[in-house]
Amino acid sequence: MPKHYDLIAIGAGSGGLSIVERAAQYGARCAVVETGKLGGTCVNVGCVPKKVMWYGASLAHALHDATDYGFNIDIKGFDWAELKAKRDRYVGNINTWYHSFLADSDIDEIHGYAQFLDAHTLAVAGQTYTAEHIVIAPGSRPIVPDIPGAEFGITSDGFFELQALPERVAIVGSGYIAVEIAGVLNALGSEVTLFLRKQHLLREFDAMLREGLMEEMLNAGINIMPMTQIARVDKDAESEKLMLHCDSGQTFEHFDALVWAIGRAPNSDGLALEKASIEVDNKGYVVVDDFQNTNVPGVYAVGDVIGKAQLTPVAIAAARRLGDRLFNHQQDRKLAYDLIPSVVFSHPPIASVGLTESQAREQHGAAVKIYQSRFTPMYHAFTSHPQKVSMKLVTVGAKEKVVGCHIIGLGADEMLQGFAVAIRMGATKKDLDDTIAIHPTGSEELVTMR
Ligand SMILES: Cc1cc2nc3c(=O)[nH]c(=O)nc-3n(C[C@H](O)[C@H](O)[C@H](O)COP(=O)(O)OP(=O)(O)OC[C@H]3O[C@@H](n4cnc5c(N)ncnc54)[C@H](O)[C@@H]3O)c2cc1C
Repeated sequence: MPKHYDLIAIGAGSGGLSIVERAAQYGARCAVVETGKLGGTCVNVGCVPKKVMWYGASLAHALHDATDYGFNIDIKGFDWAELKAKRDRYVGNINTWYHSFLADSDIDEIHGYAQFLDAHTLAVAGQTYTAEHIVIAPGSRPIVPDIPGAEFGITSDGFFELQALPERVAIVGSGYIAVEIAGVLNALGSEVTLFLRKQHLLREFDAMLREGLMEEMLNAGINIMPMTQIARVDKDAESEKLMLHCDSGQTFEHFDALVWAIGRAPNSDGLALEKASIEVDNKGYVVVDDFQNTNVPGVYAVGDVIGKAQLTPVAIAAARRLGDRLFNHQQDRKLAYDLIPSVVFSHPPIASVGLTESQAREQHGAAVKIYQSRFTPMYHAFTSHPQKVSMKLVTVGAKEKVVGCHIIGLGADEMLQGFAVAIRMGATKKDLDDTIAIHPTGSEELVTMR
């Protein structure tokens, strides 16, 4: 007899853990199936270890700035292995905490790889399980290009396994993961070259952010190679150094590591979705409506596997709302996928919410008014490697409703959350002007822009 549940989640990452947690709070009998480690991408090979590395890199910058503040310090080196060991321990503690959390919440943990047998039945490690509701939350994985020698490279997953700081690194990609890894390795002492297939970094972001980051990365000594497509990778048998051959005929050599950060693919292909006739799009993303319903009644999907705003808080929010709807009679509860704030943990960081200037102009034409500011923050008044802050407010209409806010610079990561609340509530430029500034800070500029 298969074991029966009210709800089973496939994947114990941000989305899967959140749906079982919320549903169990309402008294549903739940299980979560996980083939890897509890916590999924964010905890194990994403946000959490990445942010630890970002803190380490930020300290490296601060140590250099400290001498400009009069400290006589002698930096005797940096121990990658020590930081990695502490980071791994921290992540391990979170994994352990999740095991006890599930046990305490009376949620069954099923270890193995889940596959559909039909819309209400899953096979895992030779056992079958049935449920009234099944939530697909298997996340996504890094893409490796299909070119000769690609296997000599690693992905963001491999970045977290590096045992030592590589001396010379090639990073291929232009998205947030590529720029974050480039920033960390550069700050900690690697010589970094970033290869972009097109002209720009962070193509989806506001032009002010893209251009500002490109300038800061170049100032920090990162080599950036735009319009460069890698066609083949070779490894020198003796030195073990990597050589990148481009389709233009150019060759770049002597790399100790190569990181592919060219995008992610949904983990939907191994789930036997066809056995339950669950629809996917042409890239393999599970198709859902506004309420996370797939085309099959009783089957839902949340998180990276639906291909929309692939961020941890988005997966969590969609899952919790689904739980409220299924088990707490909140029929209209769903996630609004607009105005999602996000941060790129680059050096300096980027924070962004809402429409970019060009999106706003496309949608609202002449009704758009932009407020912009660029300044050197006080922290950098006398440092030898000053980084600028740039801010932009995108407003629309006679009332100047704020529809976008974009910041690059020191503290941007911690500045945006509160402004995102105000913008979601419909704040206008006047509302920001009427707010008393906090002085002296960088964020005061957002309520004093002319
Ligand atoms: C390097 C990196 C940095 C990131 N930084 C940030 C950040 O700073 N902020 C942010 O908000 N987001 C960040 N993200 C994105 C974030 O990690 C994801 O959006 C989030 O983890 C998605 O959650 P999920 O539940 O959809 O999938 P996941 O968290 O990936 O969880 C899916 C789980 O399902 C399991 N699984 C897959 N298939 C099966 C199967 N058939 N059976 C059983 N189990 C299965 C997987 O092993 C995995 O544990 C980052 C991602 C990466 C790669």
